[in-house]
Amino acid sequence: MRQINETHDIQLTSWVTCANQDSDFPIQNLPFAIFRRKGIDEAWRGGVAIGKQVLDMAAVAQANVFGGQAQIAAQAAAQSKLNDLMDLGVEANGELRLALSRALREGSDKQSTLETMLVPQSEVEYSLPCHIGDYTDFYTSIYHATAVGKLFRPDNPLLPNYKWVPIGYHGRSSTIGVSGQTFHRPVGQTKAPDAGEPSVGPCKRLDYELEMGLYIGKSTQMGENIAIDDAEDHLFGVCIFNDWSARDIQAWEYQPLGPFLAKNFASTVSPWIVTMEALAPYRASFAHPESDPQPLPYLDSEENTKAGGLDIDLECLIQTSGMRELEQPATLLSRSNFKHSYWTPAQLVTHHASNGCAMRSGDLLGSGTQSGPEQEEAGSLLELSQGGKVPITLPNGEQRTFLADGDCIVMRASCSKEDAARIGFGEVVSTVLPSTS
Ligand code: MN
Repeated sequence: MRQINETHDIQLTSWVTCANQDSDFPIQNLPFAIFRRKGIDEAWRGGVAIGKQVLDMAAVAQANVFGGQAQIAAQAAAQSKLNDLMDLGVEANGELRLALSRALREGSDKQSTLETMLVPQSEVEYSLPCHIGDYTDFYTSIYHATAVGKLFRPDNPLLPNYKWVPIGYHGRSSTIGVSGQTFHRPVGQTKAPDAGEPSVGPCKRLDYELEMGLYIGKSTQMGENIAIDDAEDHLFGVCIFNDWSARDIQAWEYQPLGPFLAKNFASTVSPWIVTMEALAPYRASFAHPESDPQPLPYLDSEENTKAGGLDIDLECLIQTSGMRELEQPATLLSRSNFKHSYWTPAQLVTHHASNGCAMRSGDLLGSGTQSGPEQEEAGSLLELSQGGKVPITLPNGEQRTFLADGDCIVMRASCSKEDAARIGFGEVVSTVLPSTS
């Protein structure tokens, strides 16, 4: 687990002065994305967010600004995908973070060099930050699992394995897109409860899922396991993740093998990856309630209990096409926090590799919908509308049980506490287009 060090010092300020004023990206954050300038046919490369600017890592690497391991990591960050940077592991990434922090600090002698390597965020576009070879989605909110279980199986909401084993399924990476993604309402096979036979048509119960995405760092080989206290050495960082879901398709298809076409038509990541090191001040203790089964030994450690969780505030907003036409901003649907998760990131990594499954840098682990303990903290419309029975009324009078065409979902995440700098994840924005059929 990464330790707090000089890069987290709340007193640090940057010569990029907009970073010092209520920004998601102060000098204590330093997240990575893949970007290029909009409207110019130039190469994608890595960038680091600082205030409202992007530090161009291709320029930094080429100018040989840093030495040693930091320079090697800067070269990896200059590529069109971040997989090589992720695979370098904790030490080299730590060296790069330290070098970036020192170079961007007020008073740095590198200011005049780096000043020429900044691009305003308003002038850039983003691509997927890495090649996502494999995508696995977990189910780590017991509140979400219980609420959804009640809707799908009223007599048996939480299955007996839930408290023993991190539940997950293998998704597809082919339809994961970056913020700004649009997609057509999926078409699928569904069966209404009172219908004799299923029918095929546009999804009627389209939903979002408010999730965190965990990117694998250092790769492992097939046959290798990852001990719980080493698990975070294999995690690079965290993004916001909207895992779109077609509830009517899901309800008909999910037994006995689990989610399939209800889940693989689109999923959207935020462009910025906040590194595990940046999150060091925002660790949370982990415990299952005393009355619940305790984690089996391979999923248990002192360190994981003490600080395995992450305290990340999450919020989900909607902007309907009607609101967009009137230039009304997105309105809040719910707030939650990643610390409510029933399993920690380390437990997910350790469990995933416990059978010898190879983990590769850039692989994405979805946390599962992060619903909190209260009904209003639900991370999906399925829960907020109680299975579509109770419509939500938006401030402009529009109502929703599930998503309508033109709806845009915005998710944000941030960390704040008294003795640390507030850091944010930016946002993930994506819009539903009408079905093509
Ligand atoms: Mn999901």
